[in-house]
Amino acid sequence: MFRGFLKAGSGNTSVAKLLLGSSLSAGFVFAISANQASQANSKTIIAVEPLTCDLVSAIALPSTPVTCLIDRKQDGHDVNISPRQAQALKNASQVFTLGQEMTPAIKKWLDNPITVVVGVSAIEIDDDHDDHDDHSAAKHDDHDDHDHGDLDPHIWHDPHNIIKMGNIISKNINKNISFFDRETKKVLKERTQAVNSILEDLDQWIQRQVATIPSDQRTIVSKHKSMGYYGDAFGLETLSLLDSLGHSSSLKPQTISKVITELREEKVQVLFPEQQPPSKLLRNLSRQTSTPLAKQQLFVDGLMPTGNTISVAVHNTCTIVNSLGGSCNKKTATQLESKWDSLTKC
Ligand SMILES: [Zn+2]
Repeated sequence: MFRGFLKAGSGNTSVAKLLLGSSLSAGFVFAISANQASQANSKTIIAVEPLTCDLVSAIALPSTPVTCLIDRKQDGHDVNISPRQAQALKNASQVFTLGQEMTPAIKKWLDNPITVVVGVSAIEIDDDHDDHDDHSAAKHDDHDDHDHGDLDPHIWHDPHNIIKMGNIISKNINKNISFFDRETKKVLKERTQAVNSILEDLDQWIQRQVATIPSDQRTIVSKHKSMGYYGDAFGLETLSLLDSLGHSSSLKPQTISKVITELREEKVQVLFPEQQPPSKLLRNLSRQTSTPLAKQQLFVDGLMPTGNTISVAVHNTCTIVNSLGGSCNKKTATQLESKWDSLTKC
């Protein structure tokens, strides 16, 4: 199966040329690319964020090309869509995205009927902490800051939310399969079920790891508001300095002093960097409060430089669990990672 990747700003390489591979001579590529491009484009699914792309690749039929729009190394919150990426978006058969809450740059494409949002505005969020019925409001924020104006887009940190995202993806791919093509519909259903089952197992695995953390040490402190769903799903408090887009404009002196007070009250053991080297903001906070930084960073905005949707959940969980005095059994998750790979790499 082809799993294409669209590099930002990589010049004039066409999607068709990427599809054809580099072994062909330039002239030959040119000769057949027009035809190939029209065929490829009419069928190509584009997934905007790297994690969305990994999930779409696991569910989509092996015969359907899936192209990832944004590079893993880019900050999705602040990414710009290049003219070439815009062209690819125009030519796709379907576009899947977490939506403008995660990737503000995608806002312009949301009116396009082929664009399917699978993010926070599209799913029902389970909420054990709140009696409100309004599922569109942010209820996953830090306990200190009930901010309804700011929808937290980092939903995938709760594996049950990835299942919901996957079900939307599957439903929309299914719409494009002919009613009479029962076999293809069956394969899609099986792939969706396989994805859901891996994610249920991941959820169980995370629960077992988090259970090893001493109950008075269950607080995650990080820079931007991104681990709220994880905290809600697995019973950890979350505390952050910046809003869910990581914008420092939201950082007020009161916020810092409030966080410092809470760090002391909650006897927080460790602060979690979201980048290496850790941000200046977190290093200052660490110094001011004599709270050490975790050795490893959390990958809060999607995939790691390598690995899949399961790998990043396993990495983050082991980083959290081991830093907070628990003990993470990483080995037992290896099978889940490779099961996922067997769906995306075929
Ligand atoms: Zn983020």
